Amino acid sequence: MNSRIDVKIDITMKRIYLDNASTTPIDAKVLSAMLPYLKDMVGNPSSLHYEGRLAKSAIEKSRAEIAEIIGAKPSEIIFTSGGTESDNLAILGIARANQNKGKHIIVSCIEHKAILNSCKKLASEGFEITYIDVDSNGLVSLEQLQSSIKPTTILVSVMYANNEIGTIQPINQIAKIIKDSMVSTPVFHSDACQAAGSLLIDINKLGVDALTISSSKIYGPKGIGCLYISDKCRIEPITFGGDQERYIRPGTENVAAIVGFAKALSIAEDKRQSESLRLQKLRDYFLSKILKNITDVSVNGDMDNRLPNNINVSIKGVEGESLVLLLDNEGVACSTGSACSSTDLNPSHVLMQISTPLELAHCSVRFTLGRYTSEKDLDNTITILAECVKKIRSLSSIK
Ligand SMILES: *Cc1c(COP(=O)(O)O)cnc(C)c1O
Repeated sequence: MNSRIDVKIDITMKRIYLDNASTTPIDAKVLSAMLPYLKDMVGNPSSLHYEGRLAKSAIEKSRAEIAEIIGAKPSEIIFTSGGTESDNLAILGIARANQNKGKHIIVSCIEHKAILNSCKKLASEGFEITYIDVDSNGLVSLEQLQSSIKPTTILVSVMYANNEIGTIQPINQIAKIIKDSMVSTPVFHSDACQAAGSLLIDINKLGVDALTISSSKIYGPKGIGCLYISDKCRIEPITFGGDQERYIRPGTENVAAIVGFAKALSIAEDKRQSESLRLQKLRDYFLSKILKNITDVSVNGDMDNRLPNNINVSIKGVEGESLVLLLDNEGVACSTGSACSSTDLNPSHVLMQISTPLELAHCSVRFTLGRYTSEKDLDNTITILAECVKKIRSLSSIK
């Protein structure tokens, strides 16, 4: 049988989980908030009876909680199945609803595949897409962004923080460029899946019209997220059915997941500042140890405008996939590039865009720390990492 399918749970195995950008473990408080909605509260939120109203009330409370955290109105929050669907809904739904004004869209070239592949779909429908370059640190070119806005531009989407190299984009500066443009008035969307929990996600301070958040990256359940969209913007559905989520996202709501998502966001927001500081210290400590203990390591992405939990390095002569597998064997979970491309043999589009040489792009490894990462975990990881690197390098020198 395929070894990726036939995995047995071994609770005695000691693991160090350093892949929090792929997904985070669920917070115990989130799980307890969800349990009643998985066990006893059986109603469909659209039903008129008591059970239905209980479920509806739980959804609306969660919606109000999320809206308050990000500074929006409850009616501006649309629950979806996660970051991918929110991104698809934003790109496809906003573009199609506004195409009477034009068919031009601007996105950064290091967006998540959920954005890039939605743009590909739109290109096949006759939309024109401009991809904004990033510099070698992964920061988008503001000049190019400004000069790309044309009378037919209806949508701009730039991610808040990158999932692979952790680069944080100046979202409010980008918003200002868009709002000040005399050329057109595009909708501004940002994918904040990686930013939530680490950075300020106040839509008014950011100046965005639409924002994607995923529960799976903030210690909530997987398969749930939301799209904030200003009630001034037009959007159309990409799936069709009943009147749930104002017809924009039909289908019976995942009540327990929605409750868990709201709880997760509220905990993440409470802990945001203290956790960011703690993680940044741990990250810098870990990186300095890597640089001290392993030769020929280069850091991918900007060190200043970077998520507090992200380390992405290329280790010369050490192929990323082999290293991840060897580390996994020794109890450490991490990624090469992004999780979505780890079954793909092409090097990461993000690393290529920041002009990482091909051979170094193949040697990249990403460690993303999280709420449950301790200094001891990192000390243990360093020892294991140094041994794994040594092993791979000695094997390749025999060849
Ligand atoms: C994880 C992630 C997504 C996809 O979110 P899912 O909830 O897994 O669908 C989209 N964009 C970014 C930046 C992400 O990190």
